[in-house]
Amino acid sequence: MLESLSNSLQSALNRLRGKGRLTEADVQEAMREIRLALLAADVNVKVVRDFVNRVRERAVGQDLQKSLTPGQQVVKIVYEELTELMGGAQARIQMASKPPTVVMLVGLQGAGKTTAIAKLGLAFRQHQHRPLLVAADVYRPAAIDQLKVLGKQIDIPVFDQGADANPVDIAKASLAEAERAGADIVLIDTAGRLHIDDQLMEELEGMKAAVQPTEILLVVDAMTGQDAVHVAETFHQRLGVTGVILTKLDGDARGGAALTVRAVTGCPIKYVGLGEKIEPLEPFHPDRLASRILGMGDVLSLIERAQERIDLEKAKEMEARMRTSSFTLNDFQEMFRQVRNLGPLDQVLKMIPGMNRMKGLENIDLNDRRFLRMDAIISSMTPAEREDPSVMNASRRRRIANGSGTTVREVNQLLNQFEQTREMMKRFTGMGKRMSRRGAMSALK
Ligand code: GDP
Repeated sequence: MLESLSNSLQSALNRLRGKGRLTEADVQEAMREIRLALLAADVNVKVVRDFVNRVRERAVGQDLQKSLTPGQQVVKIVYEELTELMGGAQARIQMASKPPTVVMLVGLQGAGKTTAIAKLGLAFRQHQHRPLLVAADVYRPAAIDQLKVLGKQIDIPVFDQGADANPVDIAKASLAEAERAGADIVLIDTAGRLHIDDQLMEELEGMKAAVQPTEILLVVDAMTGQDAVHVAETFHQRLGVTGVILTKLDGDARGGAALTVRAVTGCPIKYVGLGEKIEPLEPFHPDRLASRILGMGDVLSLIERAQERIDLEKAKEMEARMRTSSFTLNDFQEMFRQVRNLGPLDQVLKMIPGMNRMKGLENIDLNDRRFLRMDAIISSMTPAEREDPSVMNASRRRRIANGSGTTVREVNQLLNQFEQTREMMKRFTGMGKRMSRRGAMSALK
């Protein structure tokens, strides 16, 4: 999905990611590449310009956040701006205060309207609604039959009055049918044409006036890029569209429609179509698509947590001590306190792309109680003991176990883990940063 945009944006940003310092030239070059990537994805020129300007402004004037490198911060800014461009928060379907909720689906022929109706029906049924599908596309040959076949397939009732009836009458009659059948949401498949014309618009306006829909959802084909955006503009001007369903995002759509429709028309994308198979339509989450485009898994939440919860100053001090091999139990305690701050560790690991596919992850027992016990053991030691664990004889170990509410066995375990970690650090001096993480892992196994 949106692969080529995704690849080119990622390559623009990857070059920044590792850098501890960004020069003006680095930022310029990245902005140039981002601009080209967006233009190649068929994003509206003005939208591209505004987007790049906003990112540049924020990247240059950014507050230095201690736990992110400048490169990571640019990635975060691009992610936030992409999300914002696509509408920010998820836009939901409004429900009528008094049922039935009436939804008109409009759009050009071939956009995927009929398919989307069936999928939307499934999505609502999944949420315990009782949908009624209405076949009011009397012009496209076989559109009515197509909807009836789909309805049968997914076991959702379809209302029709044949191809000779007037679409506005069909729509009106469907409301009475919904009441009779106890349906709480009416999804109307309207006529589409190959091109927008006045007659089509007038008919849709007539239907809108007659049934007073809660939502008018415009179905547009993502593969048509900027054309989809023009179509959306026109429909919106005439009908007051309340949301967009963007279909065929599974194919090799370049992304222009997904990234531009909201900015140009002001209409939020509410659902996306990801295939021909009739499955519940997917609600659209701008943040998730942005994250996917940037190839980040859910690493963003992780970056954010790190930003909020890891004290970079302390981590740096610790790293410096590791390098000089003066790593004490105090540091050991600090290290796993920081890791614990990130949240349940198995959850943290799963946010890293690729990690969720790693075997054995579920077997690492990293429950917080264990952390707390380790913490308690170290807290029960005297400062001298923490600095130099070699003084730890049997009676001291007993005292610590009693003081921390643990057992001598656990105290021994912790001291062994500490020794192993320290050994490893000595061996890898100079690679402190990486090893601090590995040390934490092995200490917890
Ligand atoms: P309508 O004329 O707007 O009612 O369009 P249809 O619902 O008949 O869809 C037109 C074609 O697009 C059909 O072949 C559908 O199977 C296909 N289609 C619809 N939605 C999607 C989608 O999300 N992804 C893909 N790949 N194909 C789709």
